[in-house]
This record gives sequence, C-alpha cells and structure tokens, in this order.
Amino acid sequence: MTDMRSILGAMAERNKMEPEEIPEGTYRADDGLLHCKVCDQPVQHRLDIGGTVHLVRCICRCDEERRKREEEEERQRRERMYIASLKANGIQEQHFYSWTFANAEQNGDIQMAQRYVSQWEKAKEQNLGLLLWGGVGTGKTYIAACIANALIEQKVPVLMTNFSKVLNQMGAMYSEDRYKYISDFSKFPLLIIDDLGVERSTEYVREQIFAIIDERYKANLPLIVTTNLTIDELSDPKDVADARIYSRLLEMCAPIQIRGSDRRQKAGDAKIDLAQQMLFESEVSR
Ligand SMILES: [Zn+2]
Repeated sequence: MTDMRSILGAMAERNKMEPEEIPEGTYRADDGLLHCKVCDQPVQHRLDIGGTVHLVRCICRCDEERRKREEEEERQRRERMYIASLKANGIQEQHFYSWTFANAEQNGDIQMAQRYVSQWEKAKEQNLGLLLWGGVGTGKTYIAACIANALIEQKVPVLMTNFSKVLNQMGAMYSEDRYKYISDFSKFPLLIIDDLGVERSTEYVREQIFAIIDERYKANLPLIVTTNLTIDELSDPKDVADARIYSRLLEMCAPIQIRGSDRRQKAGDAKIDLAQQMLFESEVSR
C-alpha cells in the first residue's frame, strides 16, 4: 500500500503543475482548475494521496478527439497499405491499376460488371463465375480489371493473371510444384484469367488449362475468364480436349457477351478525326 502510495505520489509529482503556471490554450476557472479554452473542460483534476491533494493533468475533449482522429488516420493508413499489398500481389500488370469503374466510359458492359461487384457476396456464395467473350478490342480485359480493382478496394483478395503467363510459369516447374502453384490460386476468393484461347494449343497445354480450371471447380470458388472465342466455338468445339475444358468452364461461369464500343477502333477514329482536322479542315492564317 505504501509502495502504491509512493508510486502515485511520484506520478502526481511528475504531472503536477505550478499554481501560477497557466499553459497556453488554458485558463483558470472558478473551480480553481485549469480548463481548456476550446472545449471548456478541465485539463487537470485533484488527486488525494494520503491526505495531500495534488493537481494532475488529465485530457479534455479536444485531446480525446485528437486521439480518436490519430487512431482513425492510423487505421486508414494500415487499410491503404493492405489494399496496396493486395494490388501488388493480385494484379500483375501495373497498367491495370488505373482500369477502374471511375475511369471507365459508362456502357452496358461496365454496368454489368458493377452489378457483379455490388453483389459480390452473393456471387461468391453461389459460386457464380463469368465467361466474358467477345471480339478483340471490346474491352473484356478492361472490364475484368475494373472488377479486380473494385473488389480489391473492398479488401477482397483477387488474382488477375492470364493463361499465357500461367502456362509459362508452369512450364518451368516440376510437376509437384505445378500442383502447388495451381492450388495456391484457392487463396484468392476470386481468380480472373485473361485470354483463354490465344495460347499454343498442344496436348500438354490443354491438360494444364483443364487442371487450372478443374482445381478452381473443386475449390468451389468463382472464376472469371475472358476469351476471344465465340459462344459457338465454346459450346460446340471440334476438339475433345477443348470440349472438356469449355464444358467445365460453362458449368462454372455464365457466358456474357461483351460488345463494347471497340476501343482500338475508337482510337483509330480519333486519329482519323485529328488528321481530318489538321490536314483538311484547318484554316492556315498568315
Ligand atoms: Zn479541449
């Protein structure tokens, strides 16, 4: 008890303020205690230790609010770091980082993708994947990247990669490492694989593609695949090995045609417009 008393006494001594000392931002109120000029709450209180009354510092509302603000800033900082690490781990191509709904031109495809994100919990629960198919330049990859970015912003780990890269990496591995590599995809609640159908279609490649998709199927987790193949090519392939891949894929993913407003075509149009303006229309005044 005496020990505790002397500890408290020492603490009080340390926090004690001289009676005449009035720190900036405070004033002495009628109760004899210093108060905060901003919130009017006392910034000191009386502490009775063994019959001696000490004036010790305490925190006012401003201090409390500042502490909360700092905690919130710290929480947000950690959250931003976490999201940045999810991006670094999940989106391999840095130029995809800016492919977001906020930067997208609104059209039906983008709205569909936004709805997928807003109903993500249900999509995950029902294991609803997407097979985004459509011609070159329709923006399938862009849409997939928008979905990846939006979910990552909500702290959902997403891995976005493409078949060529996955097959390349697997090609350099021993078979037991390959299995581990594929099964590690299950750490991501959403897997997005870009560009099915552009890879060299050997027996080995098709086996690996089936293994990747089948692993996802067994893990009961959603998968988004983009492809230039048409729905006819997907639902009625000539080749048996392709048929096995596509039928499994169509079991897991709803095929959605991406129509887009052909981006490359648009870029081409913009060049034509510019040339038209510069070379044919402009009045050269001298
Ligand atoms: Zn205050």
